[in-house]
Amino acid sequence: MKDTAKHQGLRNQLVKLLEGKRITDSTVLEAIKKVPRHLFFNSSFADYAYQDKAFPIAAGQTISQPFTVAFQSQLLEVKKGHKVLEIGTGSGYQTAVLCTMGATVYSVERQNELFKQTSILLPKLGIRPKLLTFGDGYKGLPNYAPFDSIIVTAGAPIIPKPLMAQLKIGGRLVIPLGEDVQIMTLLIRKSETQFEKHEFGEFRFVPLLEDKN
Ligand code: SAH
Repeated sequence: MKDTAKHQGLRNQLVKLLEGKRITDSTVLEAIKKVPRHLFFNSSFADYAYQDKAFPIAAGQTISQPFTVAFQSQLLEVKKGHKVLEIGTGSGYQTAVLCTMGATVYSVERQNELFKQTSILLPKLGIRPKLLTFGDGYKGLPNYAPFDSIIVTAGAPIIPKPLMAQLKIGGRLVIPLGEDVQIMTLLIRKSETQFEKHEFGEFRFVPLLEDKN
């Protein structure tokens, strides 16, 4: 596993492209500059890693498009030491971006194959989330709640109630909502019972699936 000057150059270009698409949060851009996205790909496809595209990974899932990762990360408004819950670890690329931004990351994945693969990969890259776990993201992680923010990286038909309950007051939940096409949705928890909703246009994700058991 190698990261070279050529890869760094491709990352710098990707960051320029993201700046052109109105990604302005410097901690997001710095993280994308640092995380070697090609190492999250099967080596035969590493050449695709710095295009702004989603790409298939194991278990019929996808590694999200860099713009999507940047956009969701920016909506989270991560501060150093924030406790962030991620639903859908997948390749671990989004996890790595959040860790590099200084978040303390808890991540849930429901495909055992991906959970195992990513649990091995991230430490090899020096990325240390607080917890990677195999389970059903609809339930969140009640034992570790509350969180400063929650990011869902699969298309959800509804906002899972447990995720709303596990958000701190003032916390942010970023979730792509919808069946075929998803609307990127930000919920900000204003009080115990009040949530403010903002919508940010259409995206396409693999579906957030109900528990397999
Ligand atoms: N952040 C990942 C995105 C992977 S795609 C990346 O950039 O690589 C979405 C992921 O959500 C898939 O890995 C899929 O298996 C997972 N997923 C789907 N339903 C889930 C659920 N109910 N709980 C947890 N993870 C789920």
